[in-house]
Amino acid sequence: MSRLDGLPDTRTSLRGLTDEGHEAWLVRAIAGKLYRCPGCHGEIAIGSDHVVVHYVRRAGGSDHHHWHRQCTEAMLVPELRGLKQVPAAASSRDRLVARGRRPAGRRRAR
Ligand SMILES: [Zn+2]
Repeated sequence: MSRLDGLPDTRTSLRGLTDEGHEAWLVRAIAGKLYRCPGCHGEIAIGSDHVVVHYVRRAGGSDHHHWHRQCTEAMLVPELRGLKQVPAAASSRDRLVARGRRPAGRRRAR
């Protein structure tokens, strides 16, 4: 892939599709509190660079989870189809929540 090694940075997020057809947006974030990674069940320390995985479901609705970067790369990225880089500005939480208000067929392409 690119120099990002399949992970998001401050300017670039990633978007792919799960097997179920839900969008998965990978967004780089800094932990403002302690999170637990669903990949390894370990802690994500406050202040650490990690990945927010924001799902926008095919039928509408959205939710997100905080993952370690290395767990994202090892467990999540290989499962996603059609992973593409998108501008980080297009992947703010507000925009993704708004996107989830429409079912997939009625969303704009991006
Ligand atoms: Zn982890």
